[in-house]
Amino acid sequence: MSDARRTLPGVSALLELDDVRRLLAANQRSVVVNAIRAAVAEARADISAAEIDNWGSRITAHVQSMNVRSLRPVINATGVVLHTNLGRAPLADAAIDAVCQVASGFTNLEYDLTTGKRGSRYVHCVALLRELTGAEDAIVVNNCASALVLALSAIARGRDVIVSRGELVEIGGSFRVPDIMGRSGANLVEVGTTNRTHLDDYTRAITSRTGAIAKIHRSNFALSGFVAEVSVRSLAPFAREHSIPIIHDRGSGLLIDLSSYGLRGEATARDALNEGADLVLMSGDKLLGGPQCGIVLGKRHSLDILRRDPFARAMRVDKMTIAALTATLELYRDPEISLTEIPALAMLTSSAESIRLRCSSMASDLAQRGITARVVESEASVGAGAFPTTPIPSFALAFDAADIGATERKFRLGQTPVIGRIADGVMLLDLRSVLPREDALLLKAIEAAIA
Ligand SMILES: *Cc1c(COP(=O)(O)O)cnc(C)c1O
Repeated sequence: MSDARRTLPGVSALLELDDVRRLLAANQRSVVVNAIRAAVAEARADISAAEIDNWGSRITAHVQSMNVRSLRPVINATGVVLHTNLGRAPLADAAIDAVCQVASGFTNLEYDLTTGKRGSRYVHCVALLRELTGAEDAIVVNNCASALVLALSAIARGRDVIVSRGELVEIGGSFRVPDIMGRSGANLVEVGTTNRTHLDDYTRAITSRTGAIAKIHRSNFALSGFVAEVSVRSLAPFAREHSIPIIHDRGSGLLIDLSSYGLRGEATARDALNEGADLVLMSGDKLLGGPQCGIVLGKRHSLDILRRDPFARAMRVDKMTIAALTATLELYRDPEISLTEIPALAMLTSSAESIRLRCSSMASDLAQRGITARVVESEASVGAGAFPTTPIPSFALAFDAADIGATERKFRLGQTPVIGRIADGVMLLDLRSVLPREDALLLKAIEAAIA
């Protein structure tokens, strides 16, 4: 060991420094001690650093980095409203209040207040889901991926599930439909080709081992050209004749028609049920605009089977999810209200003109602070595999810089991280995916990044 290393100060000596005393007054002792150890270890790894005299600021830096939470709020200026990497749907105020109410104390989560006996956590959202979708029954689990595994396990474990090759898609980050389906214990039987699947393909695959037919929404990609697929509506009579249930994974949970806002061609949950599927599956945090969860809608006898499957226990939701989902669903009782109160729907349906006005007001605020931002047209999108080919007209603030990569990093690494996108060497912040109440915060973050 070199002499320099041997002279590294000990923890108790460093605890006496003025800077460190100040840290101790404002932080837990274990945090400060761990920061000291980290600073000493850093110095030990670097011989030249052994003679450092700025222990106070080094230890402070370690404390600061330990105090930054890994999961924290960011501003989504990507223009992708339901950005899976950024946590998908922000919750409505009513949903946030509902979460706070149940989180802070006890609830009747699994307690029947009428009988005073054990109840079921699965009952709480069922009435609303029935009311809003026309389903006979429903169950809510952790996410749509688990809903699919649960449905297949309960309905078709040890039996064949027929699925079109055109629907064996990968839906972003480690979700491949065939892999997920395989884990359910059902045996995948692929029919048709990538681009074309016909009714015959399904009929020929039916055997005594068939447990279900699965229809999977292609989500984040679209097939066009020489293509054919069989709708649930066309499959239903034939499936009914053979008493084979159809499991329809819709992915995104659309509860109201958004075609007047340019978002066309997606069935609502109610329409999807009317097409004749026995079970319709959807996410809670995509177009529905609620918390992360998976919702299964369908007939009571099928849902009873799902509730009895051991996976139902492993995939069960907590009280906060149930509270947030219930409060979100309540807003749908008045579609007008859902469009203004559910942030994801408000973002998707606000006019391009209103976004342009926000951009230009922010650009003039920035100009007063000596920062140049142009207002440019932009194309936003829904995200999360919904309406993948539908651009949403939008506007963005554009920042020019010689080193655009450095600008992007400054935005991303700021105290309030701002996630935008670089297009043609320009940094773009699309305001469609920014909550209007975040505009003031965004202004500050831009100032910090550009100054
Ligand atoms: C997004 C999606 C899923 C996965 O949903 P999660 O709620 O993220 O688990 C499953 N199926 C389809 C068709 C999807 O689009």
